[in-house]
Amino acid sequence: MALVYPRKIQLAQTPTPLQYLERASREWGRGHRLWVKRDDLTGCTLSGNKVRKLEFITAHAVDNGYDTLLTCGGVQSNHCRATALAGAQLGLGVHLLLRGEEPADHEGNFLLDHLAGAAVNCYPSEQFVREIDALFAQWQQHYAAQGRRAMVVPTGGSDGIGAWGYIAACEELAGDFSQAGIEQAHIVTATGSGGTQTGLTLGVALHELPATVWGVNVCDNAQYFIDKVASDTADWQRLYPDAPAVAIEPRVLDGYVGQGYAIASPEVFDLIAHLSRLEGLVLDPVYTGKAFAGMLAEIAGGRFEGCRDIVFVHTGGIFGVFPQRAGFNRAQAPGA
Ligand SMILES: *Cc1c(COP(=O)(O)O)cnc(C)c1O
Repeated sequence: MALVYPRKIQLAQTPTPLQYLERASREWGRGHRLWVKRDDLTGCTLSGNKVRKLEFITAHAVDNGYDTLLTCGGVQSNHCRATALAGAQLGLGVHLLLRGEEPADHEGNFLLDHLAGAAVNCYPSEQFVREIDALFAQWQQHYAAQGRRAMVVPTGGSDGIGAWGYIAACEELAGDFSQAGIEQAHIVTATGSGGTQTGLTLGVALHELPATVWGVNVCDNAQYFIDKVASDTADWQRLYPDAPAVAIEPRVLDGYVGQGYAIASPEVFDLIAHLSRLEGLVLDPVYTGKAFAGMLAEIAGGRFEGCRDIVFVHTGGIFGVFPQRAGFNRAQAPGA
């Protein structure tokens, strides 16, 4: 199968390690071997899963004459922080439209957005949801009026271009599998805007990896992500008509959102603390903590029986830990 990649700009430190979790396997594996693909190590500040997508997105921007990246996300968006730093690294302007009230303190990703010199506007949630398309159009016109060109990058960099990031990562996984002696695996990732899941699902099919990809949704529901993966895939096929046709079946492990996006339960905070001590592996409360908790619940429920190996994709998110520090202090908090 001839797979011709579009150009990318190298931003990520790859290949990332595939690491065996010996103690976690003993504690939770029920006979499975638990592995983690360390995509939290794609960089220091420019880290996590979004960097892999941005390699293709920024190349597309440069090659098509854009001088500014215009994107959106939550106030603590990892994607926005990665875009701000990638833009600064490449000499592109970056403008972030953030969902939520402007925080009094600049911390976590929001601090890094400012350090990287991104222009930032915060919009109250209801307005953001209602008007985001209009806001994108308005800011694009603002730049056009100055003789500049702003490219809109959708939430999470999840579209047909960004999908290449994890299609390419599957080549890495193929090498990881043969080195680790993995013959068949379940791959589990947090899914939030769907692009990582889309790329992995497509990549596994295109590279004929012996694996099944599961997204643990951290917002919305299973149907939302089944539709999102299908529409990102359709976008990818429309943009790259020469790519091989593949049939995909998105799979979602629903039931682990808890109270809502970015709201983690005490159990998730406890799990993050526990795994930090057990394996030196730090997850975040917004994405990877919930996804890991979901994976463990599904292991306990027998979902993956008959397949020895389970690979968790650590998609990053470390800067989201600090603004949620109070979640780790419940025992000392009055009334908790
Ligand atoms: C964005 C993000 C995800 C979800 O990836 P999508 O491609 O948006 O679905 C998972 N983990 C972390 C840490 C993220 O920042």
